[in-house]
Amino acid sequence: MPGAAVTSIITDEMTPRREIHGYAEIALPVPVDGTFTYIVPEDMRESIAPGCRVMVPFGRRRMTGYVISTHSDTPEGYKLKDISTLLDDEPMLTQALLELARWMSEYYVHSLGEVLRAILPASLKGKGRKKAGTAGDSMFPEDEHRPELTVEQKKAFKAISGSVERGEFARHLVFGVTGSGKTEVYLRCIEEVLARGGRAIVLIPEISLVPQTTARFRRRFGERVAVIHSRLTGPQRASIWRDAAAGRVDVVIGARSAVFVPLKDMRMIVVDEEQDSLFKQQEKPRYSAIDVAEFRARAENAVMVTGSATPSLESWYRAAGGSIERFILPDRPGAGKLPPVEIIDMRKKRRGISEDLLNALDSCVSAGNQAIVLINRRGFANYLQCPKCGWIGSCPNCSISLTWHSSSRRLVCHYCGHSAATPEKCPECGSYGFVRLGGGTQKVESDLVNLLPGVRILRMDLDTTSGTSGHSDILEKFAAGGGDILLGTQMVAKGHHYPNVTVVGVLSADAGLNFPDFRAAERTFQLLSQAAGRTGRGGEGGKVYIQTYTPEHFIFDFIVRHDFPGFAVKELESRDQFAYPPAGRLVLLTVSAKTRDAAMKGGEAAAEAAAASGAVPEFSILGPVPAMIERLRGMFRVQLLVRADIGTGEKRKLIESAREALSGMRGTTLQWDIDPLDIF
Ligand code: ADP
Ligand code: ZN
Ligand code: ZN
Repeated sequence: MPGAAVTSIITDEMTPRREIHGYAEIALPVPVDGTFTYIVPEDMRESIAPGCRVMVPFGRRRMTGYVISTHSDTPEGYKLKDISTLLDDEPMLTQALLELARWMSEYYVHSLGEVLRAILPASLKGKGRKKAGTAGDSMFPEDEHRPELTVEQKKAFKAISGSVERGEFARHLVFGVTGSGKTEVYLRCIEEVLARGGRAIVLIPEISLVPQTTARFRRRFGERVAVIHSRLTGPQRASIWRDAAAGRVDVVIGARSAVFVPLKDMRMIVVDEEQDSLFKQQEKPRYSAIDVAEFRARAENAVMVTGSATPSLESWYRAAGGSIERFILPDRPGAGKLPPVEIIDMRKKRRGISEDLLNALDSCVSAGNQAIVLINRRGFANYLQCPKCGWIGSCPNCSISLTWHSSSRRLVCHYCGHSAATPEKCPECGSYGFVRLGGGTQKVESDLVNLLPGVRILRMDLDTTSGTSGHSDILEKFAAGGGDILLGTQMVAKGHHYPNVTVVGVLSADAGLNFPDFRAAERTFQLLSQAAGRTGRGGEGGKVYIQTYTPEHFIFDFIVRHDFPGFAVKELESRDQFAYPPAGRLVLLTVSAKTRDAAMKGGEAAAEAAAASGAVPEFSILGPVPAMIERLRGMFRVQLLVRADIGTGEKRKLIESAREALSGMRGTTLQWDIDPLDIF
């Protein structure tokens, strides 16, 4: 041990007056609670401060650590080591962010150092002052239109600015279909915040999908808007971070991680499309940026505003209970009406694309308009199958079928990236000639090209958008009229504003509904209503065609009526019945090992230990069961789902007991997800 583990974490004094101290408490990104004590060498004593990053020796390695406090109490009984390098001459973390990290550490059961590593991305190096680019703005007109608010917008604005005026935490939800004027409400509320000397953070699920939104913020607030997008270099990111801390920007817009920007005088956090699963970080430390935003807003007396056409059932439930104030924007200002939706029963159809949809696409394009065609889920893809024995190529590392890519003529696994040449003959029975199944984006594209000759199709999926600017290039082209049909997976349903789109088609609505997940209906409802929201925005109106093999499913009635509240009532009944969120809470434990047997043994040991710990009642521990994706990157996976109203102390006890049970079983690893969104 290079330093002594100390249980106290952050000291309350973060000393703006610099005292000279010989020791520092350092948080390290290792799964051990508490901080480690190191000696501060003479030449660092003047400049070291809480929130600075340092390099320290740890065991045989050197690693980046985070200064939590400095002091002069000589620890006894340990041989201490020196800090090797001081990485920052000014702290990269504020007191408020350290508090946030401490809360995350407790709530998500990870060490403070592991949380801090996630808060401060590794690329946050260098001292660049280079201005970040404003890519994508040029395509939007410089029109500073500030409309008169509608009665409903005014109501929301008044209440939210009331909270801003009081300077107290409050959470508000603006519920309204796409185009109902939510963004206009955010803009006005931020104006109010700025007028009072405050600043605001705006979180958007995926920044590259909505260049229009960022452009609109830029037009309204000018140069003092900083956009954090994936094309920024490390130094550019660091420079935004510093500008925000110094108060040189007023509004920061970004994806999930922007919730950590140390913005000075932060008074408001806006979250658009709050239901989006991208707000959940799926890698360790798994966290929800929505919950983190709420904690942060509370701690800094800021106001939180979220908005959606299909709010998460978590916030809808709380709105019903009164802890979130809800506003409804019922109409689209101006002409736009919600489009009629037609549900197409595919059971009687022989082709993957129905006549109705084909005819609609044909007349839409002939009239000079545009269309969007959504393929639900990438998993609905091309497979190669042997017609003689039924062999389907599957990944040697993951329990999932390989997808056939016609462009490269290879079989590819979309979980681990495994890729293989198409075999000449069936590996199972040796016969020649495979059949191609499924309807991935490439297959649909070639069908559409055949059925609608001369139509210009822009395909957008993970293959065409692998470059960092892939998304926005395709979207810009479509916006500029460089294509008649935008075809793709989930991402074509998100946030765009195209007045010329008069037809939206959804192929295979079922792919999501049949997914073995208690959120399947919610997710599918969200996706379908988002897709529907892509049309009917211009004067031309629009229509939505949804193809399904299960037209009797309850969600379609609500989709046709654009009735989210009705859907929520029905769906919440079943959540209540089974104590699923938001009626109950979940913790997901995943044990992985090299063999199926070892993983299952590990799962059983973890389940036993969890039950014996008394942290939760035994009946609330579901499993162990093989995970839906049983093999991932060569490891077998077994899951325990804990469904209980579990507090922070019990969570720790639960995870500690499972970890301990596995500590004797070599080659097994434990992962945990607090409030999991996806259970695979
Ligand atoms: P949302 O964020 O809910 O999709 P927006 O705020 O983007 O909605 O509004 C949709 C369109 O309607 C935008 O072009 C916006 O400028 C316009 N708009 C918003 N509020 C009003 C209003 N009160 N009067 C007229 N037009 C408005
Ligand atoms: Zn794989
Ligand atoms: Zn075969």
